[in-house]
Amino acid sequence: MLIVPEREIANLMTRAAAFDAVEGVFAAMASKDAYNFPVIREAIGHEDALYGFKGGFDRTGMALGLKAGGYWPNNLAKHGHINHQSTVFLFDPDTGMVRAMVGGNLLTALRTAAASSVSIKHLARKDAKVMGMVGAGHQATFQLRAALEQRAFEKVIGWNYHPEMLPNIEKIANEAGVPFEAVPLERMVEADVVISITSTFAPTIMADHIAPGTHIACMGTDTKGKQEVEAALLARATVFTDEVTQSVSIGEAQHAVSAGLIEIGDVHELGAVINGTHKGRSSNDEITLFDGTGVGLQDLAVAAAVVELAVKNGVAIEVDF
Ligand code: NAD
Repeated sequence: MLIVPEREIANLMTRAAAFDAVEGVFAAMASKDAYNFPVIREAIGHEDALYGFKGGFDRTGMALGLKAGGYWPNNLAKHGHINHQSTVFLFDPDTGMVRAMVGGNLLTALRTAAASSVSIKHLARKDAKVMGMVGAGHQATFQLRAALEQRAFEKVIGWNYHPEMLPNIEKIANEAGVPFEAVPLERMVEADVVISITSTFAPTIMADHIAPGTHIACMGTDTKGKQEVEAALLARATVFTDEVTQSVSIGEAQHAVSAGLIEIGDVHELGAVINGTHKGRSSNDEITLFDGTGVGLQDLAVAAAVVELAVKNGVAIEVDF
C-alpha cells in the first residue's frame, strides 16, 4: 500500500493535472463509465463535527474508493489544524485490496477549482474579458487562480459579504497580473464569467445581477438548504452540473426545482458537453450556469493522479499492509 501524505501534495499536484483529471472523470460520468455512490454525511454528536464519505468507481481510469472526512469547526482554535479534514482511499478494482491513502485537504481545493475551470473552458464565451468573483474565503483563492488561466481576462471584479476578506482574492488577481476592483453586487452585470463560492443559506446573487451571455459557476452550494443565487436565475439560464442527482438535491438547482421553475430534465451534465453529446452554449446571449456540487469521483481522479506523480518522484511511502 502507498501513502502520499498531505505535506507532499503541494509539491506534486499541478492545476493542469487536476484540470485534466476532473475533465476526464466528468466525461466518464456522462458516458456512464463512472458513477458516484450515495453520499453519507453525519453530524456525529462530538465536537460539532460533520463527517462522511463520498465514493465511486471510474471504469475508464480504474479508480475505486472514497474520500472520508468532513468539517470540525473547533479545530483551528483548539488544535491549530484546519477545520476541513479529509483523506482519500483508493482500492484495486481487480482485488478489493487497498492501494493508496492520500491526504485530501489541498486536493479538495484543487479539484473544486478544476471543476469550475472545466465549466469555463467549455461554456464561457471565448471573448470573455471581465472575471467576477463572489466570495473571498479559502476556496475562492484557488477558484480565481485556476479560472484566470481559461480566458484572456483583463480585469477581476469582486464582492464579498465580509468585505475585509477581499484582499485574499485581490492578491491572486495581482499575482496573475490582472487588475482588481471591489464592486457592489449590482456591478456583477459587467462580468462575462462569474464564480460564486460562499457558504450562504440565503441567495445573494439576484437574477438581475447577471447579464445575458455570462457564464456563472455556482460552487458554494453543496448541502441541502444552502443557496447562492436567486432561483429565477436558473429559469433564465441553461443549467449544467457535475451530477444531476446531487444538483437537484444538495446543489443550487434544489431550489429552482422545488419551486417548480425548472424540471430535473432541464439540468444537463457538463460531461455531455465535454463528450460532444450536448452542444453547450448555443448563442452569445445565453446565460450558462454550472452547478458544481462536488462529487467523490473528482476526489478519486485527482488522488489517482497524485499517486502516479508520487511514485514517479520517489516520494510515495510504501507500507506492507
Ligand atoms: P470559507 O469559510 O473560507 O469562506 C466562506 C465564504 O462565504 C466567505 O467568502 C464568506 O464571506 C462567505 N459568506 C459567509 N457567510 C455568508 C453569508 N451569509 N452571505 C454571503 N456570503 C457569506 O469557506 P470555503 O472553504 O471557501 O468554502 C466556501 C463554500 O464552498 C462552502 O459552502 C463549502 O461547503 C463549499 N465547497 C464546495 C465544494 C464543491 O465541490 N462544490 C468544495 C469545497 C467547498
